[in-house]
Amino acid sequence: MIKRKEIVMPARKRIALIAHDNMKADLLTWVEGNLSQLKQHEIFATGTTGHLLKNQLGLDVHAMISGPLGGDQQIGAMLTTQNIDMVIFFWDPFEAMPHDPDVKALLRLASVWNVPVACNRTTADFLISSPLFATAHSYEIPDYESYLRERTQT
Ligand code: PGA
Repeated sequence: MIKRKEIVMPARKRIALIAHDNMKADLLTWVEGNLSQLKQHEIFATGTTGHLLKNQLGLDVHAMISGPLGGDQQIGAMLTTQNIDMVIFFWDPFEAMPHDPDVKALLRLASVWNVPVACNRTTADFLISSPLFATAHSYEIPDYESYLRERTQT
């Protein structure tokens, strides 16, 4: 079993917003309805989602490359260095995507790094209405230093 250590997630979260094509309108509606709260945080998004959020809602967004071109993997990589604190992913369960493996990889890394993920609107509502959404929060992540020590001791 991998050892864990406690770290603190900041009050001002770094939140990744992602929506598959059929879910983009739903995400935009959700973001619009929660704009004042989301503006208190730092927002990241996959390419197309990010540009829609900027252009249609004026949200300040760090846009990655588009999902099918690697954006989900860019967000996943940021989970491993604690540069994303939460993922809100309006996922389309009815359509197979060329980048399904990337989505699976992103969800796996969110699990590895103990990051909250919403894959539908109700879960997103629960996350955003949690008192922890806007306060610092202690949580556990894998202790990479001890992981490495255990595997490199001769
Ligand atoms: P997009 O990517 O925001 O660039 O459309 C989302 C996805 O399909 O993963």
